[in-house]
Amino acid sequence: RAKDLGRNSFQLYTPAMNARSFERLSMEASLRHAVTRGEFKLVYQVKVDLDTGRMSGVEALVRWHHPEMGLVSPVDFIPLAEDMGVISDIGEWVLREACKQCKHWHDLGLPPVRIAVNVSALQFKETRVPEVVASALRETGLPPQYLELELTETVLMQRVDEVVVVLKELRAMGIRISIDDFGTGYSSLSYLKRMPIDALKVDRSFVNDIFDENDKVTEEGAEIVSTIISLAHNLKLKAIAEGVETAAQALFLHSKGCDEVQGFLISRPVSGEDLISLFDRNLLPEAQEE
Ligand code: C2E
Ligand code: MG
Ligand code: MG
Ligand code: MG
Repeated sequence: RAKDLGRNSFQLYTPAMNARSFERLSMEASLRHAVTRGEFKLVYQVKVDLDTGRMSGVEALVRWHHPEMGLVSPVDFIPLAEDMGVISDIGEWVLREACKQCKHWHDLGLPPVRIAVNVSALQFKETRVPEVVASALRETGLPPQYLELELTETVLMQRVDEVVVVLKELRAMGIRISIDDFGTGYSSLSYLKRMPIDALKVDRSFVNDIFDENDKVTEEGAEIVSTIISLAHNLKLKAIAEGVETAAQALFLHSKGCDEVQGFLISRPVSGEDLISLFDRNLLPEAQEE
């Protein structure tokens, strides 16, 4: 991976490495201008309430259309953007665009939905997120209760007291906070208890491990997911499962009291236009309906 080359590390020179550094360099050069050149766009993935089968929210996911390289995954360019110090510019664009799109759905008269935006740990550290959020809401006219921020556990591990203050500020504005990829980081339970947050998102890797390759429930995999759901509920938080690909996973999660699911079973991330057809109907497969 390009980012593993590190900024200041010495490397033995090899042609393969040369190709990789070249790719990184050219990605860097274009990433710096990608925002102003309008090369980013957002796609949207629904979250579904397991009790009602209805859309409970939408997550915005960024895509980069590089003029020569084509579609570059956020998994590849977000770490690079962090290294280069441009993550906050990208993050601000994403936030504004997501609020604008959400307001647009509201204006179309669709049932008002909440939009979730991913905020990188570095962005959280280097900018005053409440101010950035306030200006995005002001400019787009989206009421704060329709905005949710998805933060990773890395954020919680920064200076705890300062993080608590910022999160309280955001929640006082009416914004919801969820912890993304929960279980993959190293946040301590005592810190978690102190965090003013609303939901835990069970990481997709755990959802994937509920069943083995023969579609049998695995003891360990099932136990981990159940435990995270219970933990969320004990802390008075919602539990959301991501990466749900099969009806069996959704049924299992429902039986464990999981509140919401998200994944290819229901919908891949789609354009703002295509999302419209997903409003106002049951999104769960037949077997889920009572
Ligand atoms: P995430 O926030 O945990 O988002 C979930 C990722 O899982 C998305 O990948 C989504 O397309 C994918 N996914 C959803 N359902 C399924 C499923 O059923 N099966 C499988 N295999 N995958 C599924 P994506 O869009 O490539 O994003 C990857 C990560 O990049 C995100 O993980 C998030 O951490 C980051 N990211 C995406 N957009 C942004 C953004 O605007 N800002 C920041 N800071 N990070 C972003
Ligand atoms: Mg997310
Ligand atoms: Mg996630
Ligand atoms: Mg994840």
